[in-house]
Amino acid sequence: MKSLTRRNFNNLTAKGIGGATLLSSLPFACAMGANQDKKKLGIALVGLGSYSTYQLAPALQDTQHCYLAGIVTGTPEKEKIWSDKYGIPEKNIYNYQNFDDVTNNQDIDVVYVVLPNSMHAEFCVRAAKAGKHVICEKPMGISVAECDAIINACNKAGVKLGMGYRLHSEPYTQQVKEYVKEKTFGDILFVSADAAYRSAGNPDQWRLNKKLSGGGALMNMGVYAVQSTIYGTGENPISVTAQEFSTRPEYFKDTDETITAQFEFPSGAVGNISTSHNFNANAMYVSGSSGWFQLQPANNYGPLSGETSRGDTIEFPHESQQKLQMDDFARHVLFGEPNKAPGEMGKRDMMIVEAIYKSIANGGKTIALDFEPGFGFGG
Ligand code: NAD
Repeated sequence: MKSLTRRNFNNLTAKGIGGATLLSSLPFACAMGANQDKKKLGIALVGLGSYSTYQLAPALQDTQHCYLAGIVTGTPEKEKIWSDKYGIPEKNIYNYQNFDDVTNNQDIDVVYVVLPNSMHAEFCVRAAKAGKHVICEKPMGISVAECDAIINACNKAGVKLGMGYRLHSEPYTQQVKEYVKEKTFGDILFVSADAAYRSAGNPDQWRLNKKLSGGGALMNMGVYAVQSTIYGTGENPISVTAQEFSTRPEYFKDTDETITAQFEFPSGAVGNISTSHNFNANAMYVSGSSGWFQLQPANNYGPLSGETSRGDTIEFPHESQQKLQMDDFARHVLFGEPNKAPGEMGKRDMMIVEAIYKSIANGGKTIALDFEPGFGFGG
């Protein structure tokens, strides 16, 4: 591990998600041809918005075990642009209506759903029914019932299901899990996690429309903070108490602006999260009985950064998190390796999200949670 000065650390922190997004959205030109190897899984991206365009498609050019085989889009103009850029044959291009025909397409092994949250369940279920393995972006759906529908459809079809939780495939998060498992800093007593950014753009965007998003900051960024408390303690919470704050109701007409929540864990550890569409935050801090560690930034596209009470820094070479995530899922499908972010993880997080909204609706009442130990943990 390289030492990191406080100034560098702050600079990295300041980059946040915006900086990472900017860097990774630089023009990218690469043809798919060389990746067309029978041993690789063919992935079809459903929804060609910013995440598919600037993260997933470029990352697929570097994956070891998969390649961009097809696209599903509701915008006809994108068909030629993507076909030209990535060499996607016409027979592998679908729209939302004829998508189910993918069942007859041997080139496509995995369908990766990257649509607005309220559309995840429909397209994941249709993909499973078509006999394709499924990757679902976060949040898994807009209700626990939708998560169940996806899990059941995949089980019934005998296909694999993974969540687009990229952090489970990147080394900083693995290091956190290792510290917790090995009790490097003793028993975990406290975790705090913040995942937020300031939204000031188009007020009509789907993320601010509850019907399409299912909710605001909590659905979008909050799931990262919830996740951090879980891998930061190694436990699922047994209760949650939550509060909502609104300072720009004219902009956040339909969705939550800022939410804070406190968790209790079976060991006695406690946690606190904040999530917002009104301010920037991107960190996790974990305090154990013999020391502490923190990541800041903790949940953007990287490079992440961290330090510990021993005076050292946590630092790893940067690789595309999306590349690592898709290769991990492909290894799960191809070689039976553990699923790092299974469907149950997405469902567990939605159960916690629903409990947070329930606490808020009941004036900050503490809501009990009752998970089987390890429920939703990835391999
Ligand atoms: P985006 O707004 O950039 O793209 C959305 C896509 O869905 C567009 O191609 C749009 O044409 C299409 N679409 C279809 N029906 C639509 C409708 N009714 N309204 C709006 N768009 C519609 O969004 P995005 O940032 O690419 O996010 C897509 C999904 O990916 C979301 O679920 C989001 O949470 C997730 N995401 C995950 C990460 C991550 O780090 N894992 C990062 C960004 C986004």
